[in-house]
Amino acid sequence: MLLTLETEGPDASKISYLLHKHPDKVQSFEMSFGKVHVYYPKYHENRAVACMLLDVDPVGMVRGAYRESDFMLGQYVNDRPFVASSFMSVAIAQVYSSALGGKCKDEPSLAQTPFPWTARIDSLATRGDSQWVEKVFSPLGYQVSTHTALLDPEFPQWGQSPYVQTVLSKTCLLSELLTHLYVLIPAFDNNKHYFVGQEELDKLLEKGEGWLASHPHKEWIARRYLRGRANLVRTALSRLIDEENQSDPEESLQADESTPGQPLTPESLSSEVPLRLHAQRHTSVVDELIACGARSVLDLGCGEGKLVRELLGVPQFQRILGMDVSYKSLEIARKRLRYDTWDEKQKDRVELIHGSLIYKDKRLHGFDAAAVIEVIEHLEPTRLDSLAKVLFMQARPKYVILTTPNKEYNSVWESLPAGQLRHQDHRFEWTRDEFQSWGNRIAALYGYRVQYKGIGQEDPVRGAPTQMGVFHRD
Ligand code: SAH
Repeated sequence: MLLTLETEGPDASKISYLLHKHPDKVQSFEMSFGKVHVYYPKYHENRAVACMLLDVDPVGMVRGAYRESDFMLGQYVNDRPFVASSFMSVAIAQVYSSALGGKCKDEPSLAQTPFPWTARIDSLATRGDSQWVEKVFSPLGYQVSTHTALLDPEFPQWGQSPYVQTVLSKTCLLSELLTHLYVLIPAFDNNKHYFVGQEELDKLLEKGEGWLASHPHKEWIARRYLRGRANLVRTALSRLIDEENQSDPEESLQADESTPGQPLTPESLSSEVPLRLHAQRHTSVVDELIACGARSVLDLGCGEGKLVRELLGVPQFQRILGMDVSYKSLEIARKRLRYDTWDEKQKDRVELIHGSLIYKDKRLHGFDAAAVIEVIEHLEPTRLDSLAKVLFMQARPKYVILTTPNKEYNSVWESLPAGQLRHQDHRFEWTRDEFQSWGNRIAALYGYRVQYKGIGQEDPVRGAPTQMGVFHRD
């Protein structure tokens, strides 16, 4: 199994300092799974190529901790020697450790110098998800080229091989390139040959720092890296969302009590909006909840607890449960609501829990109504079906009040560049038609009726800035 790193330009031959490996010899390293060899097939002034060859010892692995549990012969017949897998990450961490850590002993400035890199992974095990190679690497700024072959040209009906030759190009620091490979190769491989626990979670968060939180497919990456362990994935996502929020100036404003209301979205920049849209939204939602006679209310994706605070002021709501996927938001919510000063009776009335709306959760059962305010647009569109199932089929409150931005209204805000979404974490924003066709489909599927309303100052052509769906089941 081969990882080839190539660079060009006047400093190309400095690669040996960066990798900390002598250019004139083949160096070999003993690893738990076999051997790793590093050598330079090309080493010129203007072009240098470094190869890392993994010589995985399948028989040695059978004797060691490695087990293929799926079928008995799997111990002897498996793809481990031929694919880029977590062994590749182990090799990167051990054999290229200085480069991965961004250090260069002899010429420290090299580690801080971007080089034009081309990395070639000869056999990336994509487990049938080859389209994800582009989706995962492109947002990180790589030019991606992939090549797959038929599994066996004699039997075209067997389809394409799940192994993809992948070439990635980008001008960046070597540490950045190696860090991406370290995390993403095992995410693709998704092989369950070792125990995935807290340590893997810590590794993912440590190595993912600074890029994973803002990756549009962070959920896929976390899920694959953590082998689908739901509780670890949930924790990873919550921490990543926290990291992203921290790095977002809009969100830090939101956390600041001195700036009442809400993030510095165009909504808050626009002086024409008489009452902050955020506050208006919550007032409209509380009015709906009062009107439908709900006594117990879910606030799903409750964020920093602003709606919960409003709900608390209405005696009709005897039971309130706020849930969010972000620990940090829940902590802020507790602080804002002075949760630590509450007596037992207040704690019986209000609960704040950590959880994700895309996983089945019994704690959400038995409520009259649910508010899902400005949450759906934070989810990948492919997760909306899971959310709908959790909300409308499993939790199944009598009323669901759901709001989301009306994309058509964005052009009213001159400060928002054309085509841009209102918040950097928004995965999508919908026109009124798009929202209503989704809402109608979900209502029909789960036996609800739905009515749509606008919130905020209405534009005669583009509608209101926020759109609200009020779902009601008989
Ligand atoms: N409803 C709040 C917050 C909106 S911001 C308000 O109106 O002020 C969106 C919130 O959704 C964030 O707090 C985010 O952490 C949360 N969120 C995103 N994905 C989620 C998920 N899968 N499950 C639960 N909450 C989620």
